[in-house]
Amino acid sequence: MFARLKWMRAARGPRQLARQYSKVSSTVEELVSTRAKPKEAEALSHVTMPHIITQRDHKYSEGKVYNGFQCERVEHIADFELTSCTLRHLGTGTEFWHIDRNDTNNVFSINFRTTPFNSTGLPHILEHLALCGSKKYPVRDPFFKMLNRSVATFMNAMTGPDYTLYPFSTMNETDFRNLQRIYLDAVFRPNLAYLDFLQEGWRLEHSDLRNRESEYIIKGVVYNEMKGAFSENSQVFGQNLLNNMLPNHTYGHVSGGNPLEIPKLTHTDLVEFHSKYYHPSNARIFCYGSFDLDKTLQLVDKEYLSQADRIDNSYSRIPSQPRWSQPRNVHISSRLDTMGAAFERQNQICIALLMCDITDIQESFELNVLSEILIRGPNSVFYKSLIEPNFSGGYNQSTGYSGDCKDTAFVVGLQDLKVEDFTKFNELFDHTVSKAIKEGFEPQHVESVLHNLELSLKHQSPHFGNALLFNSTALWNHEGDVVANLKVSEMIARLRDNLKQDENYLQGKMAKYFANNKHKLTLTMSPDESYEEKFKLAEAEMLKQKVNALDKTESEKIYQNGLKLEASQKAVPNTDLLPCLSLSDVTEPPKWPLLSRQSLQNVPAQLCQVPTNEITYLKCLFNITGLSSDEVMLVPLFCNVVNDMGTTKHDFREFDKLVLSKTAGIDFKLNFVEDVSDAKSYRLGLMVTSHALDKNVPDMFELCQELLCNFQFEDTDRLKMLVENYISNISVGIASSGHLYAMLSASALVSDASKLKSLLSGVDHIRFMKQYVEQNSTNDIRDKLQAIGAKVFNKNSMRVAINSSEAYQSTAVKHCSDFLETLPTLETTKTSSKLHLLEPSCQHYVMNIPVNYCAKAFFAVPYLHEDHPTLRVLAKLLSAKYLLPVVREQNGAYGAGAKISSDGIFTFYSYRDPHSTKTLDAFDKTYQWLRDETNKLDHETLFEAKLGVLQQLDSPIAPGNIGIDYFLYEVSQEMFVKYRTRMLAVTLDELQAVIEKYFKEQPKHFGKCILGPANDKLEEETKQKWKTIA
Ligand SMILES: [Zn+2]
Repeated sequence: MFARLKWMRAARGPRQLARQYSKVSSTVEELVSTRAKPKEAEALSHVTMPHIITQRDHKYSEGKVYNGFQCERVEHIADFELTSCTLRHLGTGTEFWHIDRNDTNNVFSINFRTTPFNSTGLPHILEHLALCGSKKYPVRDPFFKMLNRSVATFMNAMTGPDYTLYPFSTMNETDFRNLQRIYLDAVFRPNLAYLDFLQEGWRLEHSDLRNRESEYIIKGVVYNEMKGAFSENSQVFGQNLLNNMLPNHTYGHVSGGNPLEIPKLTHTDLVEFHSKYYHPSNARIFCYGSFDLDKTLQLVDKEYLSQADRIDNSYSRIPSQPRWSQPRNVHISSRLDTMGAAFERQNQICIALLMCDITDIQESFELNVLSEILIRGPNSVFYKSLIEPNFSGGYNQSTGYSGDCKDTAFVVGLQDLKVEDFTKFNELFDHTVSKAIKEGFEPQHVESVLHNLELSLKHQSPHFGNALLFNSTALWNHEGDVVANLKVSEMIARLRDNLKQDENYLQGKMAKYFANNKHKLTLTMSPDESYEEKFKLAEAEMLKQKVNALDKTESEKIYQNGLKLEASQKAVPNTDLLPCLSLSDVTEPPKWPLLSRQSLQNVPAQLCQVPTNEITYLKCLFNITGLSSDEVMLVPLFCNVVNDMGTTKHDFREFDKLVLSKTAGIDFKLNFVEDVSDAKSYRLGLMVTSHALDKNVPDMFELCQELLCNFQFEDTDRLKMLVENYISNISVGIASSGHLYAMLSASALVSDASKLKSLLSGVDHIRFMKQYVEQNSTNDIRDKLQAIGAKVFNKNSMRVAINSSEAYQSTAVKHCSDFLETLPTLETTKTSSKLHLLEPSCQHYVMNIPVNYCAKAFFAVPYLHEDHPTLRVLAKLLSAKYLLPVVREQNGAYGAGAKISSDGIFTFYSYRDPHSTKTLDAFDKTYQWLRDETNKLDHETLFEAKLGVLQQLDSPIAPGNIGIDYFLYEVSQEMFVKYRTRMLAVTLDELQAVIEKYFKEQPKHFGKCILGPANDKLEEETKQKWKTIA
């Protein structure tokens, strides 16, 4: 989907929020990408009281003026228990959308409609530069500085295809006001300094800054960011899809910047772009939550809008794409993905059809539902015709309904198929469309899609305000009715009504938008072995032309600027101007509902009463440490396919219908559970989760029982297809989450437990699975999976957790007890495993990408050790004060940081890094830096690092997930409070003590890892032995 093309300001590494994008554009739901990703060693985050829904009084009335803003529309939206208030600034015409909701996680954002007409990355580089210092806060990079002076639950900036937004969220009102000031000043009065342009955008620089004779290179944060972004083939595909599908206006260009075009951008272009597109009349301001709106309006009006004039913002409007009279075909090349499928199968194809105008919300909503009906799950027609014949690696990343641009689109595509099968794909597509028009859709399948939509409305995510903003941004940007778009129940009712009135309703849409639609693009992509080489040549040619064009004065300027930039990067930043929280703002730990425990049918049960909006959440955790090591290796696959095979009673289609019409699905996941008190032991768990409306809870338990007791893998054709799709899916996205994979792989060199973790979810898992499938028949795999299932669903090694409302809890418990009674009781074998530390080693995974992801890991101490909170504070401090300035700002990586996980492994990482050995060297020099820069270790720095840790500890958690830390790790609420208090009390002396203890000597057990291009100088440059995995 186009929606994936968003460039974000901060790679926040392991804390980065799961990418949120709209799957069903009209609903506000948080969607976590379902493809396999290495699971981050989970931060033991804790909970806050979820919002309590009450009807609130409203003092804003339509027609009245408040602080320069006229209130235009006030509406209560029952679906989400919120009140929407739309205001307009009398002077500038700026629209201000306030959502009043009893939620402590408040959100604020300033959005602009930005429509570039070239691919130099104008809006993207401006987004970076705006946050590099402003009139009131002339501090270098206040954005990164504020990351350490706040307890924000989210802070970022993003550039989309036609908008730029600056959102943040926080639960602390002082923090909210602080960040509001910084953000407003940043966007309306940025300094846009030339040196910052050179740093963030692009620049020519001598490879040796002090040597005028040394060769020139091109550097820049966005320049490298985009090189990294397009090293992921799915990004290349998505970008080309957008550019070719909507070629006539701004969407024909790359808003993030094409690396070969970025160096055409000048600083003047950028300043002009700002004054045109960041004018208040072209801005939209969003505010969500429970904090006082008056204060916000007053600040915005008094400090900014009242001083600006009003302009007509129609220049930034985007016209509809003129419809084509003929379908088009486009073919593009991609990088050969060394981790991907075999060369001849590494092709992609999709068909994209232009749908309706985004502002036609009911139509767009219905087309969105229709596309779910067409592609989702084994009962959908495209799944049956395109996926089941098993000639590909499944749907590609672009598949789905896209509602992120002026014109919406439907896309269906396949990954990992042969070129010979392109024709087949086209024929199958046409055939499926005509068949659907002729035969219509199964009512029960349609119903299950609608049920899921209704259920998702009730489900509360911890970042509801952010999700609402992200899901409304595109529509709002095109002046659509965002308030009406929130009335999802009404839209569903209208659709149901339409379906009742006309039994061929959906077929009519199919005929109009699919069969008779000439605006149809077939996009194909094939790997080109010389892709990388061609890019390098083009880059070298561009550099050559730039260099040849330099005269003496310009050369001198480049030399001087290089030195100036270096000096400014190394200068001590003046952060006194920036606001900061104080200890008293954060002393109180968040409050949460108490957990209760009882035994149900001899199974330990954890119960939590929270306002869940009529939903009951179920989690079952099975200890599977007793499985043989061969079996353990197949558990990730088991989790991925067991719920897609049907049961002995229901075939997979029928079972899927039953599950989706009563629950949100039944999911299986492998959990690696470190013992927080004993560094030397760990358990493996298999977690089964589901949730359902209270009224469907009996069915939810019945379906879980059916699956756990009667799972089956008999249909080997289907199993074969699911296994192959699984392998295709796990190899997608490595380059975009490369730092997570690098950290996992580095940790794998430290202990056997982490090695296992990497084999179960890291790069090693992909390699293992590919090999396994080559060497074993589907029948063998079937027997293995069957044997695993027969061992793991055991009442004796199980725990359950139920989160439900107070009123429904006893009923839920009764149904749970009935469910548990039916589960098998088997003997339990081993309940935990011992961990062993490994000898130091280094590993290089050679990937065909132009950037590196580096990591170094060593073993420190686990969560409950008294040094753990201090090391966690130190990790934050190193990230902010050492790694970001050196690895990001000076050396040009997009991100870098350090963290310690609950299992006690301390990791350094870099993200989209032009260097490898230089970065690893920086990791090794940590102690030297700490020793040389002791003056930087002051009270302020220490407190900032503590705030950084607090952002993780106090981050909000969804009602359905409250208590998960206790459930998984047995970290009780008391233990958490103790840890939090201990962390806040860490002193400079204690910090010094852990520095001496853990960093002075090279650690006994460490590992280094690089994911990146081949490098034959690795051993020479690092003076270490490296194992290369190509
Ligand atoms: Zn960026």
